[in-house]
Amino acid sequence: MPVAVPGGERPAPSGGARAGGAAVDFPGVAADGASGGRGLLLGVALSGAVLAAVALRLEPPPPRPAGAPASEFSAARALALLREILGDEAPHPVGSEANRRVQDRILAEMDRLGLRREVQEAFACGRFGMCATVRNLLARIPGERPGKAVLLMAHHDSVPAGPGAGDDGSGVAIALEAARALLSGPPLPRPVILLVDDGEEGGLIGAQAFLDGHPWAREVGAIVNLEARGTSGPSLMFQTTGDDGWLVRLLAGALPRPAASSLFPAVYRLLPNDTDLSVFEPLRLPGVNFALIGGAARYHTPRDDLAHLDPGSLQHHGDNGLAMVRALAGADLDDPPRGNAVFFDVLGLLVVRWPEKASLPLALLAAVLALAGTWVRTRRERLGEAALGLLAFLAAPIAAATLALAAPPAAGAGPFVAHPSAATAAFLAAGAGAVFLAAALFRRAGPHGLRAGAAVGWAALAVATAVLLPGASHLFAVPALAAATVLAPSLARPEHAAADLAVAAVAGLVLFPVALLVLDALGVGAAPIGAAVAALALSPLAPLAAAFPQARRWLPAGAAGAAFVLALGVAAAVPRHSPDAPEHVVVLFHQDADSGRARWLVHAASGRMPAPMRAFAAFGDRTELPVPWGKVRPSFAAEAVPLSAPGPVLELRGGADEGGRLRARMLLASPREARDAYLLFPPDAVVESVSFGGLRVPAPYPRARTWFGGWQMYRCLTLPPGGIDVEVVLGEGGPREVVVADQSDGVPTAGAALVAARPPWASPVQEGDATLFTRRVRLGVH
Ligand SMILES: [Zn+2]
Repeated sequence: MPVAVPGGERPAPSGGARAGGAAVDFPGVAADGASGGRGLLLGVALSGAVLAAVALRLEPPPPRPAGAPASEFSAARALALLREILGDEAPHPVGSEANRRVQDRILAEMDRLGLRREVQEAFACGRFGMCATVRNLLARIPGERPGKAVLLMAHHDSVPAGPGAGDDGSGVAIALEAARALLSGPPLPRPVILLVDDGEEGGLIGAQAFLDGHPWAREVGAIVNLEARGTSGPSLMFQTTGDDGWLVRLLAGALPRPAASSLFPAVYRLLPNDTDLSVFEPLRLPGVNFALIGGAARYHTPRDDLAHLDPGSLQHHGDNGLAMVRALAGADLDDPPRGNAVFFDVLGLLVVRWPEKASLPLALLAAVLALAGTWVRTRRERLGEAALGLLAFLAAPIAAATLALAAPPAAGAGPFVAHPSAATAAFLAAGAGAVFLAAALFRRAGPHGLRAGAAVGWAALAVATAVLLPGASHLFAVPALAAATVLAPSLARPEHAAADLAVAAVAGLVLFPVALLVLDALGVGAAPIGAAVAALALSPLAPLAAAFPQARRWLPAGAAGAAFVLALGVAAAVPRHSPDAPEHVVVLFHQDADSGRARWLVHAASGRMPAPMRAFAAFGDRTELPVPWGKVRPSFAAEAVPLSAPGPVLELRGGADEGGRLRARMLLASPREARDAYLLFPPDAVVESVSFGGLRVPAPYPRARTWFGGWQMYRCLTLPPGGIDVEVVLGEGGPREVVVADQSDGVPTAGAALVAARPPWASPVQEGDATLFTRRVRLGVH
């Protein structure tokens, strides 16, 4: 069984114990009596050192210079390329002129590399009811033999709000720099296909078009996708598709500094996020997905630019992409092995892994060891102490999470704030404080009881996760095995702190990466999760804290509590947002084409409108829904002078009323030449089908409806100047009404002062500032 346990962590106190106390492994580290304070100090120092090592190894590597060997990935070369590709750093969403210029520069680079390339142009729809004419840029590097190919994928479109230097310019530049590196060496066994696709931000449209319509799609045997939900931090391997046991073995051997954990895919599956790789997921093709998630406040904003893209992160991302492509191009893609893995990296030095189906046996083994150790060594009369220890073990993370509920309001509305380190420090202190508090409250359990209870507690969590969320089971199984292994010897010699220190080191190596990444991954609201994780990581210090001299037993908890309050104060005092980590503030000009009424709408993520913007017009004091489907964008509204431009057109061209079932053929057009137009059906409409230009739009995922308060959106992101043919089939019973909208980037010139009043610490996001016209249309045929 390929179970690797981190080396060097297995303590060796058993010899000392068996020898009847003849050998002393850690002299002076006694866990009881007057010297107990020193044990705790040592434990805190050790956990602090592990935390620092984990933090240091989560920093990306130094970028390699432009003169690096040709076979290597160089961030300096990739950055120069990205500078070239992004040009003036204009946002370049699907269908925009800026996007076409970006494409031309990528194609020129493909030509310069001598790649066999082609452009796939297609009108296609993604899974969220959004369609567009996309232009995918493809190239291939021949292998030694034909057959299954490795697909290296990134997307060239950005959101309308920002230049997308990280998302996904970094991926595009890496694909090109990786292609250059691959071409510099001997051919790989298998072909490599580069897919620089379009319309990812519009709902994975380009990837879908490739899968559905390009002949090369049938050759794909494995996929490497490069993404960015930020501009810095490590390149995390955060998702796998297909059976991943062999993929993890491959990446463990290939990546120079792996930052990977089966926890990430397990959590990612629960999140409402998608990348191009999602399109291939139903095929169960083997795939690995890398992403940058540091600096998430800049994601999909104008600050996702070259100035903020960390060259070290680009290096790490490129190292991962290139190494993974090389490894897959040498692997058996025709019949890859079955089975999934549970895995995690240790300081980016190695990847510990085991088959997913071994998780439950491992957890049960830890449980048996923990229970046996508790029973044999504590004797029946001391089982009560172990029970108290279990209570202390479980109470600490709950208490820590409860304390850390104070962190999000202190750090401010996010989800991503300018200085998350203060909130991180706060929840780490909350974790420590909760462990020390539990140790003081459950002091009667004694070091034995706390150790035995913790071993049983770890094992119980390991068993639970092995059943419910196997990808997360290593977080508990590894400390459980460590705690259970050292339990019997440590109970025999309770005065020795070596066992606690060993378990603390193991728990820290496994759990601190989670604590340090959780705010980047989930936002400041996840501070309670971080606190619970920190409490678990620090729980091996509980026996040392319980051995603190009786008279000063509240001192450790008090010290941690003071640190918590201090960090909370700092989190509250530092600015929530900065020019580098802006609050999202979006300006919308909305004109109701039926009434002719127009409004300025300002959405601020904090729910507070920046004062300089309020001076622009008579904005209301409270937010309102900008449009009935604008659930996610409560906005401040003020009357605006209407534009003389016409609203969108939905013109009946034919159709039939088939016994209560309506089939209508129409032309959807934007006389003011907006690029983006959509139909919105009320929540109770019975929409049987919608087609754009003869292409039936797949029913949007149910998740997409929740974004719009139940309204059903069908959207064409690249509306042709003359409009597009639409066919709608509505079932019996529902309303026969639709809202038609057209949307263009930016606001009318009359709003220039409003946009200019947006403070430097705020910025637009996603679709950015926009001009929206809507009209209600009753559907019917005569
Ligand atoms: Zn992206």
